[in-house]
Amino acid sequence: MVFKSKYPDIAYPTDLTVWEWAFEDKRYSPIFRNPPSKLAGFSNAVTGERLDFLQVKEHATYLCTALASQYGLGRDDTVSLFSQNSIWYPVAMFAVLRAGGRVNGASPSHTVDEMANALKTADTKFIITVPQSIDTALAAARKVGIPAERIFLLEGELQGHASMLQLIEVGRSRGEGGQTPFFRIARGQTNDVCGYLNFSSGTTGLPKAVSSILPVAYQRDSAAKREGQVMLSHRNVIAQCLQLGSASEPKRRRFLACLPLFHISGLVRFLHWPIASNDECVMLPQFTIKSFLKAIEQFKITDLALVPSIVNRLVNDPLVAKYDLTSVKLIACGAAPLGEEVIKLLEKKLPWTGFRQSYGMTESCCCLTTHPPEFYSYKYADSGGVLLASTVIKIVDLDSGKELGPNETGEILAKGPQIAMGYLANQKETAETFGADGFLHTGDIGCVDHKGFIHIVDRIKEMIKVKGQQVAPADLEQLLLGHPAVEDCAVLGIPDDRSSERPKAFVVLKQTVSPNPKIAKELLQYVKDRKIRYKWLKEIEFISEVPKSPSGKILRRVLRGKRAKEDTLF
Ligand code: AMP
Repeated sequence: MVFKSKYPDIAYPTDLTVWEWAFEDKRYSPIFRNPPSKLAGFSNAVTGERLDFLQVKEHATYLCTALASQYGLGRDDTVSLFSQNSIWYPVAMFAVLRAGGRVNGASPSHTVDEMANALKTADTKFIITVPQSIDTALAAARKVGIPAERIFLLEGELQGHASMLQLIEVGRSRGEGGQTPFFRIARGQTNDVCGYLNFSSGTTGLPKAVSSILPVAYQRDSAAKREGQVMLSHRNVIAQCLQLGSASEPKRRRFLACLPLFHISGLVRFLHWPIASNDECVMLPQFTIKSFLKAIEQFKITDLALVPSIVNRLVNDPLVAKYDLTSVKLIACGAAPLGEEVIKLLEKKLPWTGFRQSYGMTESCCCLTTHPPEFYSYKYADSGGVLLASTVIKIVDLDSGKELGPNETGEILAKGPQIAMGYLANQKETAETFGADGFLHTGDIGCVDHKGFIHIVDRIKEMIKVKGQQVAPADLEQLLLGHPAVEDCAVLGIPDDRSSERPKAFVVLKQTVSPNPKIAKELLQYVKDRKIRYKWLKEIEFISEVPKSPSGKILRRVLRGKRAKEDTLF
């Protein structure tokens, strides 16, 4: 059966680019909907520097003009943005969109090879980066034949590279009448024009590029499934903002951009949604638990969009008690499974907040499901929420492909205006993943219960097969995270003569507990006491950190490599 959203369909414009929707159209743009004194903007969490949305528009117009007139930036040209979170990021992004180009966000911590791969797969023409990454950018650009004069600086100054501020002055000097006209889309074609290229999570072979803005314990890998750049259209982003808007309270909010802007969650939640709803967004350039907590207190953040590993830090870090977090009204979490035990601990720690979960992926331009306001409560946190407006899904049997009903578990297939255009220059993957009937094959396993809530079990490739029975690593990880000695963990299947595979847990212990055979035994028993026999752990290994990718996913293949070393095996 097909599961449909309970909410009325959204009406999205079919003839607007993201630029027009954000800054030119009187129905949608905050610039026209709000008096200047009420206009929200982007602030820097450390320096307090701020740009309101009108300033973003002005700077982006000048920058667009300079890039178009002096460097030839135009329709379908890719600009790769390698930067940490910054208030200048939206200026660069909107300048590219205004010219009809494609924005390709990527981590500033990429190595040369990773960056070169990003440039190649995105067919990049221009690079905008930060001084710390300039040497890597230069070396990567050399590898793929991008001349040094096409590398610009988002912030700061360096000889030989035009900075954004310099380019903005070039544009400004041409005066009101001398600005390059903004790119337009013919009626009905907003879904035919790509505005963004985003790496699909864990699919690029580059997830080692954990940016310096990310927390240490952050990521949860959803096993590499596809390769390449996801093409997101102007319609995808506009529709997703309208869908999220229709599932939210019409309140003034202050967001903290603590997830990277180059990941789909950051792109939607911190670069576009604030504009759609005229909400302030505070950019956190460097994530440490201290800078995160300090920004919440100082800027009286009302809404937090987190990933499970940050939630783990909130629950476990003693520093949390030193900050006033009472301004927070709503915590949203997504990108990876969040365990029941952790949810309980979070509720205990921040009982005054509402809670919502979202589920989605880069290929669905962020969310397919979320909890709307009537379910903003820890009570409903054991699910990924309900279908967003204009979204339908099917659950199909993993072997037969047969459509399943409520509470039956299979692969999740999804359709809606937020589903991406496909993969850049990869027709085969596009056809396989985005299906002829328009349903995105998510690669996730889950079910929809009788009340319409979605439950994500795991990813297809991550399933461990024990004597033919499926064990979801996430199931055991969530259980282990509820043990008082466990700070973080990852589970994967290892070969076993009798069962073909059995689960093994990689465990990071809390600082106060040292690894020893006794605690290993206790953890093995903890699982035995709570799970059916075929889910019991074969072994435990203590590690100092779980390797994660930029979007909060465990890098299981790194752990698989590590397994060969068998350092601290009990
Ligand atoms: P990405 O493309 O980086 O956003 O990763 C998308 C993948 O993250 C999905 O296909 C899921 O495997 C996982 N994911 C996203 N949200 C959730 C959630 N709420 N619960 C469990 N897994 C999730």
